[in-house]
Amino acid sequence: MTRMEPTIDRIKALDIKGFLDEEEGMRLYDLSREAAALGPCLEIGSYCGKSTAYLAAGCRERGSVLFTIDHHQGSEEQQPGEEYFDPDLLDSETGRIDTFRSFRETIEMLGLSNTVVPIVSTSEVAARFWSTPLSMVFIDGGHAMETAFLDYACWSPHILPGGYLAIHDIFTDPAEGGQAPWYLYRMALDSGLFRELPRVKTLGILQRIPLHSLVDYAFAMRDKLSSK
Ligand code: MG
Repeated sequence: MTRMEPTIDRIKALDIKGFLDEEEGMRLYDLSREAAALGPCLEIGSYCGKSTAYLAAGCRERGSVLFTIDHHQGSEEQQPGEEYFDPDLLDSETGRIDTFRSFRETIEMLGLSNTVVPIVSTSEVAARFWSTPLSMVFIDGGHAMETAFLDYACWSPHILPGGYLAIHDIFTDPAEGGQAPWYLYRMALDSGLFRELPRVKTLGILQRIPLHSLVDYAFAMRDKLSSK
């Protein structure tokens, strides 16, 4: 029997564990499909493979790949006793969270094994000798300030001109959620290297200024600065 194509409908039907809204997932799919023509995409925070599936579906259409990094031990808020703890993900032998088994099931079920390159590591260690330019980076790792800053510092420099930086869980109001992703978003904008695209729910999207518009962009920045 031939494996069914990993269509978006199948991804939606699977009901993969995760915190990604369907509309956000569709936007990730569109972005990765567009970006992947330039080079590989990279995700930080694979969890059980929900956003991975959307991103990989886009990469696959371009014959590209998705690197996805996760230590698979759950983030701070997913540990036993914490707000996002899920007992299904507890390894009964070790008493620790292990999301890799569920992640692998998702990828295999969708026939995405030849598109997805899982990296089981912290993002910082994976970044140490990284030198491959990336067409898209999706940051959806730990939300502690230090973890989030490291993800941004380690991976945003690898984004190609014209490529995308997407950041999940953007809450502009501290009453709605943690502020680390929103800080990253503004740091990237302040760097002058990115321009803002419309947000989709809590998904922030920035594009690294494409080479062909760098001069226009520089003049626009000069005008903005001189009017301050
Ligand atoms: Mg998230």
